[in-house]
Parts: sequence; structure tokens; C-alpha cells
Amino acid sequence: MQIRSVPVSVGLLAAVVFTVSSAAPAEEVQPRMVSAPEGLIPSDAVVLFDGTDLSEWTYTDGRPAGWITSDGTMTVKDGSIITKKEFGNIQLHLEFATPEDATGEGQDRGNSGVYIQGAYEVQILDSYGNETYIDGMCGAIYAQYPPLVNASRPPGKWQVYDIVFHAPDFDSGGKVIKKATITVFHNGVLIQNHVEIKPTVYGLRETESPLGPIYLQDHNHPVKYRNIWIRELGLNRNCQE
Ligand code: MG
Repeated sequence: MQIRSVPVSVGLLAAVVFTVSSAAPAEEVQPRMVSAPEGLIPSDAVVLFDGTDLSEWTYTDGRPAGWITSDGTMTVKDGSIITKKEFGNIQLHLEFATPEDATGEGQDRGNSGVYIQGAYEVQILDSYGNETYIDGMCGAIYAQYPPLVNASRPPGKWQVYDIVFHAPDFDSGGKVIKKATITVFHNGVLIQNHVEIKPTVYGLRETESPLGPIYLQDHNHPVKYRNIWIRELGLNRNCQE
């Protein structure tokens, strides 16, 4: 068997060499320009909240979003909200502040959350000197992954999430063949490093889907948001068009 296998291997090798050497050189396509001026959003981002306009959002039952807008911010009121548009692979930027008047303990202090696709919660909580179970603290993928570190700022201070999310891949029968993944920076600090995730409890659904809205949670606390924008990354996991 070993003697017979040699010519086959040599033949295969020759075929591979021939294929490689005869292939046309790959064309280099220059990445397109994206303007990213200091202090402004990238030119190809879609603004989800600019400080005054809630038109991209509804309550989860479809009513127009009624969160309180003031001084370039919106504050949780009367229910969770979702974007009208649904997204797949994304880069998401949002800023939030838990109430300056920090009352309550554990999960009952500055609780909100951003659910990607309405299904995967990146927890928002006042975790500045406020301990709770670690996979429920600020920056946790709720009930799945605690943050790598606690990068929280004090209550009332503006904080930033920058999130990269890749939706699950499905086979033709709708079965998940590659799980969703997420990377999260909290105030510029890496807190979730490309982890595989599954839908979270208390979201819109616990099933996987290629698309879904951004969902901001009303957890009975007046958490504020501002400056929310998103970049759609296309279907390719390498983030090309
Ligand atoms: Mg929450």
C-alpha cells in the first residue's frame, strides 16, 4: 500500500504546483476611503440617535419610541425600544450613563442593556463599586461571559461601548453552522474578545437569526444614551463589502 501511494502523492503534488504556478496574480483592490474626522462619526456610519431624533426607534410593540430627549441625550421611559431596521454583521458605537443618583444594589442599580439583534445582551449596569454576579455586571454578555476587566466609570459619567458583532452562519436548512461572535470595548478597553455567544434570556427571542434590530432595555432605571451609530459590515466575516 505504501509503495502504491507514492506515485499518487507525487501526482497530486504536481497538480497542485501546476495549479498554483498557472494561476493569474491576484488583483489588489484598494480599500475604499472612509472619512473619520476627529470627534465626528465615520462617513459610512448610519446614525441611530443624534441627540434629538427618535425616528429610527419604536417600542417593542411598534408604538413610536417615547424615551425622553434632552440636552442631546435620551433617557429610558415606558419600555424597551428597538431600531426599525434590522442588522447582520455590525460595528456599533453607543454612549451611556447610569444615574448619577446611584441607589439600589446589585442588578437594581443603573440597569439597562444593549441587545444585538434583539437577542444578545451586552449588559449595562452601574458596576462602579457595586458588585453583583460577574456574568451580570457591566460589560458582561449576560449569563454567558463576565467582562475581562471592569472598565466602569462612576455613575453619571458618560461611558462608551464599541462592539463588533458577527451574526451566526446557517446551512441551507437553517441550522447554525457557525455561532455568533462578539468583541466589545468598554471605554476603549477590550472586555469581550471575539467570544462565541448564544441568545440571552429576556431578549426578543431565544432563537438564532441572520438579522435583527438593536434593542435598548428598559430595566426600570433612568439610564441615558447618546451618540449611537452603526456600520454594517456586509456578509463577509473579513468585513469587506
Ligand atoms: Mg440589563
